[in-house]
Amino acid sequence: MSSDLAKKILLSFDVEHWYLGYKLRGITGWKVDSWRDYKNIETILSLLEQYDSKATFFITGQYAEDYPEIIRSIHDKGHEVASHGYSHEYIYNQTPEIFSEETIRGKAILSDLINNEINGYRAASWSITKDSLWALDIISNAGFKYDSSIFPTKNNRYGLYGAPDTPYKVIFQNGTDLLEIPPQTLKVGPLKLPLCGGVYLRLFPLWINKIAIRKSNSSGVPGRVMLHPHELDSDPPRLKVNIEAWLVKYYRISKVKSILKNFLAEYRSVTYNEFMREYNTDSFPRKNLSSFV
Ligand SMILES: [Zn+2]
Repeated sequence: MSSDLAKKILLSFDVEHWYLGYKLRGITGWKVDSWRDYKNIETILSLLEQYDSKATFFITGQYAEDYPEIIRSIHDKGHEVASHGYSHEYIYNQTPEIFSEETIRGKAILSDLINNEINGYRAASWSITKDSLWALDIISNAGFKYDSSIFPTKNNRYGLYGAPDTPYKVIFQNGTDLLEIPPQTLKVGPLKLPLCGGVYLRLFPLWINKIAIRKSNSSGVPGRVMLHPHELDSDPPRLKVNIEAWLVKYYRISKVKSILKNFLAEYRSVTYNEFMREYNTDSFPRKNLSSFV
């Protein structure tokens, strides 16, 4: 491990309309309130500036169509703009044809806005599972250089438990490959805990999240921390929701800003693009998709 790799994180934000989480769960009572989208991004950009940090923003095409000036502002401040698909539909609910169309469309919207290459893709809700592995081929063919959509754990919505928990290359039948950068997990005995992102960052104590980052750093890989802009809204509308949605939308939500500040003060954050430039990705393990299903 080079000393430069000590205390380093890949910091990312999954950017979609703030109310999408309610809408997808069938929760009613919210209003579109665009000002929340502006306010949440402004909070993130000013924190990153304050700590002289850079991050990767995975953004949906629909969000970019509604807020082109936000996308340009993210890019102009030196952060990485990457794709979070177009509509945020779960990939395993789509046909390959529709997914392909949305993937190309989402990428083109972003690259036209910032007049730059879009290298990274992340699926809505980590929705590349054993039922949608075909999507990786489409992502590669669309010209992405890396993907970050496979969660190497398992719950009722997503996950591929047998997938590697550190970066690797997915090898396709024709010999081409795609860099896969998974989110953070931590092995505890037979368990693999999802950590450092979204609700998991808030469910588990900060020190457990930091152990996961330390373990990654000591093996020469940055920790992976991800959040949604809506999690920086310490005063979201209080709607009637079930327990799962309550955890995702409200549990310790008022603490997120201070947790992010804590990370930014302690770790050097880098973009996924920077990670690809700094690393010899040819040295990463090569995996056939069939090997971890
Ligand atoms: Zn998302």
